[in-house]
Amino acid sequence: MKYDFDLFVIGGGSGGVRAGRRAAVLGKKVGIAEESRYGGTCVVRGCVPKKLYVYASTFHECFEDAAGYGWTVGETSFDWKTLVSRKEAEITRLEGLYRSGLNSNGVEAFDSRAVLRGPHEVYLEAEDRVVTAERIVVAVGGTPRKGDALIEGHEHGIVSDDAFDLPELPKSIIIQGAGYIAVEFAGIFAGLGVDTTIVYRGPEILNGFDNEVRALLHEEYEKRGIKIITEKLIEKIELGKGGTRVTHLTGGDVLEVDQVMFALGRVPMTDNLGLDLAGVETDDRGYIKVNEYSRTSCENIWALGDVTDRVQLTPVAIHEAMCFVSTEYKGIPEKPDHDLIATAVFSHPEIGTVGLTEEQAAEKYKKVDVFRANFKPMKHTLTGRDTRMLMKILVEGDTDKVVGVHVVGPDAGEMAQVLAIPLKMGCSKADFDRTMALHPSAAEELVTMYEPTYTLVDGVKQD
Ligand code: NDP
Repeated sequence: MKYDFDLFVIGGGSGGVRAGRRAAVLGKKVGIAEESRYGGTCVVRGCVPKKLYVYASTFHECFEDAAGYGWTVGETSFDWKTLVSRKEAEITRLEGLYRSGLNSNGVEAFDSRAVLRGPHEVYLEAEDRVVTAERIVVAVGGTPRKGDALIEGHEHGIVSDDAFDLPELPKSIIIQGAGYIAVEFAGIFAGLGVDTTIVYRGPEILNGFDNEVRALLHEEYEKRGIKIITEKLIEKIELGKGGTRVTHLTGGDVLEVDQVMFALGRVPMTDNLGLDLAGVETDDRGYIKVNEYSRTSCENIWALGDVTDRVQLTPVAIHEAMCFVSTEYKGIPEKPDHDLIATAVFSHPEIGTVGLTEEQAAEKYKKVDVFRANFKPMKHTLTGRDTRMLMKILVEGDTDKVVGVHVVGPDAGEMAQVLAIPLKMGCSKADFDRTMALHPSAAEELVTMYEPTYTLVDGVKQD
């Protein structure tokens, strides 16, 4: 063989591991390099530990709510260090599964930083040697953007990677940003008893989500004691007595807290990766440019997952990897499909969404029927908790096609996953209507909203 490997993958996260493993199953000689821990962002410092922490943060509400059902719950306490070490054990287990999955399929896995030296050459730093490959996949992912350099004292803040392993749980925290990570961590910290404040530059949290969803989550967060300061930025962070963070906001407010966390988006890990040596082009923010088959500007190099500026979600990276393998090794050309991706925000309460927001639907279609239910979840009729659940279906008025569904409330993410199937099939509102309700459930509301709450024509609400 002309090359050491048929395929070499740089990056052992969700996308990279899947591409390597599937190619090896098809008989290809595959190498993969990971500089940190196999499993990547999702397993090590993203989705998996985040969801475990979300579970941890829900218990105190359960303890409070139990009284409404006749339970007496004694004194409770929470130990952060136990959670961190239990999380660590689970991550280590999953990391082991990733490794054994690679080994059992014959993939040669290197624990090394790898950089490109040319179109077919990869330098493995830990081994101090160059290996060659016919095809190369770059799946190095991203990393949290550290506090804006414009913020004086930004080095006193943490990012999500640090938040998972803090030596102590802070008593109070400011989180700057109001996207997925900020909102999820605010729910986690508040649920664990931390005095939590979100500082966001825009008018409402969760930019890009349906406006009603954003407003409801804002309300629910305030009910749970989370303070939300909008249209403000952090200007300066100083160290206070005992290591507190004295945080200055635009407009002059000063808040003293134990910790400041930045959740300002993520950046691709393309610095010093040797992309220029292989002729792989990036955009002005460092993301690798790819065509519809994930191929870069170098014809034998592909890029998958968060290192490309597509949709930064684990299942998307895995799907892109499967499409690459199908196209290159099975002879079945497959383009990744980024349409109608269901997504969840694991906030308290949870958000599940698929398809267009009301604002996007109104922009795209002349007539939009909006079906909406806003109610108290049945569980809370006895607990007395003041909380609401929202379900919203957006239908293109002229065709009856369902173009978006949004749920806020318990199990919203689970519902969004299932709702993505009929939406992907191009279902109509009539399909929802002829589906029998499952009673008693919250999801039955989705098939029992017969009349539109209102209709938009050219974006204007009709009387
Ligand atoms: P997001 O893009 O979701 O949010 C970034 C936040 O930072 C926004 O509120 C943004 O404001 C704000 N921001 C950006 N730059 C600045 C600045 N200079 N000053 C002040 N505020 C700023 O990124 P995240 O880091 O939260 O998450 C990254 C990605 O990871 C997500 O897009 C998502 O794809 C993925 N993810 C998915 C999860 C899930 O599926 N449940 C969970 C966590 C992450 P503005 O909106 O005004 O631009």
